[in-house]
This record gives sequence, structure tokens and C-alpha cells, in this order.
Amino acid sequence: MKNLSIISHEIALYQDAPKGHPECPERYEAIKTKIEGNFKNWSRLQAPLATREQLLGAHTKTFLEYIDETTSEVLNPVGLDPDTWAGKSGVEAASRAAGGACLAVDKVIEKDVGAAFSAMRPPGHHAEPDKAMGFCVYSSAAVAARYAQEKWGLERVAVLDFDVHHGNGTQACFWDDPSLFYASSHQMPLFPGTGKKSETGASNNIVNLPFSQGALGLDVLEGWKNYLLPSVLDFKPNLIIISAGFDAHKADPLGGLMMATEDFATLTGLILEMAHRNADNTGSFHIVSILEGGYNLSALADSVASHLGTIESFDV
Ligand SMILES: [Zn+2]
Repeated sequence: MKNLSIISHEIALYQDAPKGHPECPERYEAIKTKIEGNFKNWSRLQAPLATREQLLGAHTKTFLEYIDETTSEVLNPVGLDPDTWAGKSGVEAASRAAGGACLAVDKVIEKDVGAAFSAMRPPGHHAEPDKAMGFCVYSSAAVAARYAQEKWGLERVAVLDFDVHHGNGTQACFWDDPSLFYASSHQMPLFPGTGKKSETGASNNIVNLPFSQGALGLDVLEGWKNYLLPSVLDFKPNLIIISAGFDAHKADPLGGLMMATEDFATLTGLILEMAHRNADNTGSFHIVSILEGGYNLSALADSVASHLGTIESFDV
């Protein structure tokens, strides 16, 4: 694929959570080190702050005011929930994660690039319209999806989430909106506890495929191939946003699925093949990918490289 972009910002090197927290700046550093000097076809862009309007696409005004009031003046980070810490810099990083996802949307819609990856942290898919949780402050994928609709008039946007945890936040943002589609593979039982197959959204716009602890990469790949991707294709999205979490890797300390690094390459390839078939139906081939989880540093960096390498290898 020609003309690609990696979006990032050095604020992601800032530590807000207590030392030893798995969602740490070293995650960003590991990815940066891995891709530095490689991926020369990918232009590098700075992740901008998300605008108020962008954040309001997925979050309530009351929640945004609460985050501002709780974090803007404090020197020490505040616990927003038992797992989620943020002070002024952590909120800036979360804002740039959401803003980076929106910039990725602009770039692919303007056809400046064929695909864009936002390598920002913290992740976003657990943040609900009125609640920060699970390391996430702002729901970046949902913010970007709504922004694509409002700014660019796209009718239908799909988020595809292969993080080991279910994206309860994205699901909550999309639940009542038939123009938004959410497809997720994840481990169950596991945090956050949502993501049963029976959770289908108000208009069958949500498809969840939970896996038991110990499920193999092959199981997850088959699940996407036979169940999740055909549902996405039926939805005919005008934009595909990948919530790319790499904590389903067998080396990850937080998850119990058994994906190998090369399985993320295979899964990325399956998603892109589906996107090509979808483009035949819709005329739109728009791919945005944003980093979610992944907590074994070397597995994370290798898996991100596999993901980007596969995107690059597609001839578009
Ligand atoms: Zn996760």
C-alpha cells in the first residue's frame, strides 16, 4: 500500500499511573524503537489535541467537565477508577490519542494516505460516554467514528476490535445507533465482563465473539473469517477503524489467549481482504488503525510491526 502514515506524539512518554502499572510509557517507547529506521514508506505525523466538538461526539458534556475539573490543575495524577490514572499530562495524552484517530480519518478520507495508524497511548475502548475506566479516558475509536460522520458525512462506520478485552466503551457509544457497527473478539470471562454473544445492540449493529482462556490464534482467526468479518461486510461500512490491541498475544501478562505475532499479520490480512470486497460494494476503501492494549513490551512491538508490515504489503 502506498502513502501510509504513523501518527504519534511524545506526550505518550509521560507517566501518570503509579510505577509498575501495565499501561506505561515503555509501551510507546518499545513501539517507537521497533519502527524507527523501518517503515520508511510511512510518513510521520504529530497527533493533535482532540477538539471539544470531537470529544462531544462520544462523551457527555458533564463527563468532559468532570475530567477538566479533576485533572487540569493537579500536580499528582488522580485515580479516575481503580485502574485508571490521569493528571494534566495523562489527559493531554488521551486527548491526543483521540485527536490522532481523528487526524487519521482526515488523512484517509482526503486520500492523502491509503491507511493510517495512530500509535498513541492510553487506549480508549473501555471509556464510556460518561465514564473513564480500564486505563482509558477518552473513547478514541468512537470519537473518530462520530467525527467521520459529522465532518465528512460518512453514512456508516465500523470498528473492528481484536484486543483481548471487550471494548465496552465503544459498544456503549454505538449501542443505539444503527449507523455505527462494532465487531469484537475477546476473552471471556475477563475484564470488563461485557461482550456476550447475546449483546447485539439496538439494531443488531454489535457482534461479539467471546473466547475461553487458552483459545488458540487459529480459533480467533477462524472466528473473524467465518463470523465477524462477514457481518462487517453485510453492514457495508464507508470507513473501517481497527481497534488494534495486541494483548491477545500468548506472551501478554493480562490476557489468556494464545495468539502468536504472525497471527496478527494474518488477521490484518483478513481484515484488508474484507475491506477490498467491501470497497467493491461501497466504493470506499478507508482504513484507520489505532493502538489499544498490549502489555508484553517485545510482543507488543513485534505485533505492531507485523500489523504495519501487512498493511504495507497490500497493493493499493
Ligand atoms: Zn486490552
